[in-house]
Parts: sequence; structure tokens; C-alpha cells
Amino acid sequence: MPGFQTQRMILKEVKRFAKDRIAPIAGEIDETADFPSDTVAEMSRIGLTGILIPEAYGGTYTDHLTYYWTVRELARCCPSHAMILLSHSLCANLINLLGGTQQKEFYLSRLAAGEWLGACAMTEPQAGSDLGSIETVAERHKDTYILNGHKHFITNGANSDIVVVLAATSRQETLFNKSLFIVPKSLSGFDIGRSENKMGVRASETTELFFNNVRVPAQNLIGSEGQGMLGILEAVDCSRVAIASIALGIAESAFDAARAYSKQRKQFGEPIGNFDAIRFYLAEMATDIECSRLLIENTARLQDRKKRHSKQASMAKVFTTEMAFKTVSKAMQIHGGYGYIKDYPLERWLRDVRLFMIVEGTSEIQKRMIAKHL
Ligand SMILES: Cc1cc2nc3c(=O)[nH]c(=O)nc-3n(C[C@H](O)[C@H](O)[C@H](O)COP(=O)(O)OP(=O)(O)OC[C@H]3O[C@@H](n4cnc5c(N)ncnc54)[C@H](O)[C@@H]3O)c2cc1C
Repeated sequence: MPGFQTQRMILKEVKRFAKDRIAPIAGEIDETADFPSDTVAEMSRIGLTGILIPEAYGGTYTDHLTYYWTVRELARCCPSHAMILLSHSLCANLINLLGGTQQKEFYLSRLAAGEWLGACAMTEPQAGSDLGSIETVAERHKDTYILNGHKHFITNGANSDIVVVLAATSRQETLFNKSLFIVPKSLSGFDIGRSENKMGVRASETTELFFNNVRVPAQNLIGSEGQGMLGILEAVDCSRVAIASIALGIAESAFDAARAYSKQRKQFGEPIGNFDAIRFYLAEMATDIECSRLLIENTARLQDRKKRHSKQASMAKVFTTEMAFKTVSKAMQIHGGYGYIKDYPLERWLRDVRLFMIVEGTSEIQKRMIAKHL
């Protein structure tokens, strides 16, 4: 567990990097939807690609909250960078949670150094919320698995070097018929499909992947056969809180912009921030942001103490992502017509923030999970 000082030092560096290096390009890469290779390489130089990887494997992992506040700081400037790091970290986390020592030594050290970028492929065209119905299969033949299937909506899909893939390893319809594999992009039969033209978070690419008789060495199975869904359930809790933290970062940026604007914009001879309607918007936004911060901090604390936290992770995700969408919308309202034009970042933030009510389990699925725990 890191000291408070260590956590502060890491976050200070992330804040500086986000402000100096990624804020200046955020608007441009939203327009072009270009993958920001240079700044992703810089993220590894300052240790961010190892943020969820233990020191023993070359990472910089300290605690969950430092990871969450890292993606939050990135998202305050550019949610695409935060999303790229999150998908890479989910890939690493699955290997760390289920993998054997040799796999960890080989793959985690490269992921931590940023030598390789990771991705995680679960979703298929016919199987999103219901991962139990995936059709990708991995059939064992001696010391290899033959992988066949089609994944879509995969973050980092085209730019990653390895992808952790969920596939069925038996025809039995149980929770235990799915397994996870580390699939290097270099394997024959592994093809990249089209990249989606998205509404927001545009510089984080989202791609189709095809597996046609890909021969995956048996040693690339993560953990043992049938452990796939259990691993995902555990790792996804962490990703859900990270998604909440990204949404929180966007909400905070929108709040800061709205507060500053309300002091400077005059109507009827005085700053609009003097009007109760605007003051109450700001008060609601500040209160909601504070609630989200506390939910995320509480979940991180439970995770670091190895206490049960799935219910809290879903609560943090659904509350924060829905709160952030409303908060950015209120910030746009405070900006009036200026909020709707591209000279201001409000319209970009509104497009960006909408994703987070969908990805890593929709709001409806989070509520389903919470209800199950009640
Ligand atoms: C930009 C982006 C990046 C992504 N990155 C990745 C990635 O890196 N890896 C990956 O594997 N996936 C990724 N995804 C996929 C994402 O996780 C799924 O889109 C999400 O889980 C929802 O699945 P779906 O789109 O198939 O929607 P569906 O599951 O078809 O849901 C449609 C609607 O039905 C609702 N619904 C479904 N089931 C229920 C139910 N039981 N009760 C109530 N309502 C229900 C949903 O909440 C939703 O409103 C990404 C998606 C996007 C858009």
C-alpha cells in the first residue's frame, strides 16, 4: 500500500502530462479520430502502462485509487487516452489475476514497459450484455487451440500487440465453459476488420477482429479451462470503477468550465452566476460530483482491503456515468448557445461522456447486478 506522498507524486506527474501533452491535442484528435501513438508512448515512459501491474513484473502498481485517479486525470483532458489505458490495463489485469508465473513474467513485463499494447475481446455482434452467448470457440488439438470467431467493438483492437480473447472451450452451457487466451496479433488467421466511426471518444479506436483457424499455443490459455467468466467478473469490477472515474473526470472539467463561465458571462447587466437558476445548477453539479468521488473512494478502499466490492463497483459505475452525463448537459446549458458550438469543448465532452453509460456493462446491467446483491 503506498504512502499518501507516493500517490500524490504519481498523480502530480499524471496531471502535468495530461495538461501539457494531451490537452493541446484533444480537440484535433477528436476531429481526425487518429490514434495518438506518440502520447501513448509517452504514457509508458512515465510508467502509466504499468499502473495496474505489480512491481515484480516491471509495473508501477501502488493501489486501486491511484489507478482510478490516473484515468480520471487523463479524462479531464482527453477521455480517449484514458480509454486506451483502461483497455490495456484490463488485458494486463486478467493475466495478473489468472495467469501463471511464466505468463506474467513474459507478458506483463512487456505490457508494463509499453513495448506491447494490450486489448481485451469479449463482445460479439450477437453477444454484448449476454456474454454467455458468445460463439467464438477454441478447440484443443494436442498442444494448440484452434480459435474461430468474430469479435467487435474492441478498444485498441487494431493497435494492440496482444489481445486477451474470451472463447468457449466446451459445448456445455454453463458458466464454466469459457476460457481466456492470450492471442498475439502476429498469429496467422488473426485479421483486423473495420474500425467504427464513433460519436465520441474518437481517438480510441474500436475495431472488429476475426479469428479464422488461429493456432493458439496451449500455453497461452490463461489459468485453466473454464475459468474465463470468473476472471472477467473479477477484473471487470475494477474496469467499471475506472470507467466511473473517467466519467467523473469529464464531469469535473465541465463543472470547472461552467463555473468560470458563469462568473465571466454577463446578461441583464450582471454575471449569470448571480442568478439563482445558475447557482443552483452549480450547487447540484458540485454535490453530485462529491457523491461520485466518495463512491469511488469507498469502492477502492474495499478492493485494496480485499473485501467484497462488486455491488459498490456497479453502484459507482451507474451513478457516476449517469451523473456525468447530466452534469455535462447542465454545463452546456450554463454556456447557452456557446456551449453548442465547437469553439468550446462542451459538445465534445457531451459526445464523449455518453459512451460510459454503455461500455463495460450498460446502466441496466449494473442495476441488475445491484438488485441481485440486495
Ligand atoms: C466504444 C466502445 C468500446 C468498447 N470496447 C470494448 C472492448 O474493448 N472489449 C469488449 O469486449 N467490448 C467492448 N465494447 C462493447 C460493450 O461492452 C458493449 O457494447 C456493451 O456491453 C453492451 O452490449 P451491446 O452493445 O451488445 O448491447 P446489448 O447487450 O444488445 O443491449 C442493448 C440494450 O438492451 C439492454 N439489455 C440487455 N440485456 C438486458 C437485461 N437483461 N435487462 C435489462 N436490459 C438489458 C441494454 O442495457 C441496452 O440498453 C465496447 C463498446 C463500445 C461502444
